[in-house]
Amino acid sequence: MSLGTVQRCLECGFEAPPGSDAWSRVEHPPLGTLTQCPECGSTNTHTL
Ligand SMILES: [Zn+2]
Repeated sequence: MSLGTVQRCLECGFEAPPGSDAWSRVEHPPLGTLTQCPECGSTNTHTL
């Protein structure tokens, strides 16, 4: 809820606001929809 919330890729350090169009999304049936880094393709992201 705080302003300035950012989601960061733990693999390459890419940052963008959560839910931003900058992020890709990938369907992961057991887990639902994951956010995917557009730079390196990792789904290992963390919301700060
Ligand atoms: Zn990345």
